Amino acid sequence: MNILTFNCGSSSIKYQLFRRETGEALVKGIAEKIGTSESYLNHEKQGKKHRQDVALPDYYSAIEMIVRLLTDPQWGAVRDKTEIAAIGHRVVHGGEEFTVSVLIDAHVLQRIQYYAKLAPLHNPPAYNGIKAARKLFPGVPQVAVFDTAFHQGMPEEAFLYGLPYDLYRKYCIRRYGFHGTSHRYVAEAAAKALKKPLRSLKLITCHLGNGCSISAVKHGRSVDTSMGFTPLEGLMMGTRSGDVDPALISYLMEREKRSVQEVMEVLNRKSGLFGVSGISNDMRDLLARAEKGHKRARLAIDMFIYRVKKYIGAYLAVLNGVDAVVLTAGIGENTPLIKSRLQQELSNVLGKRVKILTLHTDEERLIAEDTYAVIKARR
Ligand code: AMP
Repeated sequence: MNILTFNCGSSSIKYQLFRRETGEALVKGIAEKIGTSESYLNHEKQGKKHRQDVALPDYYSAIEMIVRLLTDPQWGAVRDKTEIAAIGHRVVHGGEEFTVSVLIDAHVLQRIQYYAKLAPLHNPPAYNGIKAARKLFPGVPQVAVFDTAFHQGMPEEAFLYGLPYDLYRKYCIRRYGFHGTSHRYVAEAAAKALKKPLRSLKLITCHLGNGCSISAVKHGRSVDTSMGFTPLEGLMMGTRSGDVDPALISYLMEREKRSVQEVMEVLNRKSGLFGVSGISNDMRDLLARAEKGHKRARLAIDMFIYRVKKYIGAYLAVLNGVDAVVLTAGIGENTPLIKSRLQQELSNVLGKRVKILTLHTDEERLIAEDTYAVIKARR
């Protein structure tokens, strides 16, 4: 059985085709710059890459092109699109309503659109992608896998802000948390690596990529996480500030005569590793420059690691101990410096060696597995 996954961004669609029986990822790729004159597709089959510059005015045409590649004699993996049994979609926000992955019907689709009010940048592309995929694959079951779902089990004391309670009731203002699929995937992978049941483990999972978040995972459930109402809160990230004093927003607006949108743009796109270093949001660049003595590159790296350590400390208290800390995603998987620094500093604090695992995250694979589980349950 072949399962296709889609991850629709504001101008891109990532896709991957899995064969369930073998767990093999057959082909994958990304359609980029959809809706612009520079759109193209990067496709990959068994390590071989193929780029296609092609007009992709909208999601429908992008998915149509993806289907053409999936069925291409040279670059594809199936003869016909009818060989695709199910489709899984990454959806960022499921509000408090979606606590697990669900089969998409007209009602679910409408609710995904409704939660665009909480994720105005993320849910509309998923909605458009699902609509296009439903048109191109009539009758094929499609499943929504939500980034927020894994964190829905957090207790009230962890997910509420210290704001008037009415704001939670009126506007659903609370901590939702994101990267749930990744935290869940690596928590399960950690249990396998440790050869222990997940329900017996206390884990702290650190997703350190372009976006960064950290979760306290107790017995397989997220009990706290660093991203909040939006993905801006928590750790310092590539271009996002992470935690700041909210009062600085009005202060900056006054001092710099900027609008609230402009200040939010600073916090979202001009801050983090990029803002502190003044050179790059990419950890590889910063490591190379710091090596050559660039002071602010070094400072940005130190601040990044300090924040991770601080959150790990908080979650050690939340969990009352930990069996393992997991590092994952682009930075987490590829920066041995972070692992060695955390290893040393946490061991000093705790007086014993903390197990730190570096594990590859694979959100697409989990989306495919969930998709299969949902359609199997339906049968
Ligand atoms: P992700 O969002 O998981 O794709 O992670 C993207 C980020 O991972 C990039 O912005 C880089 O900063 C970082 N990254 C990727 N490869 C490496 C590497 N070899 N060493 C350090 N950082 C890396």
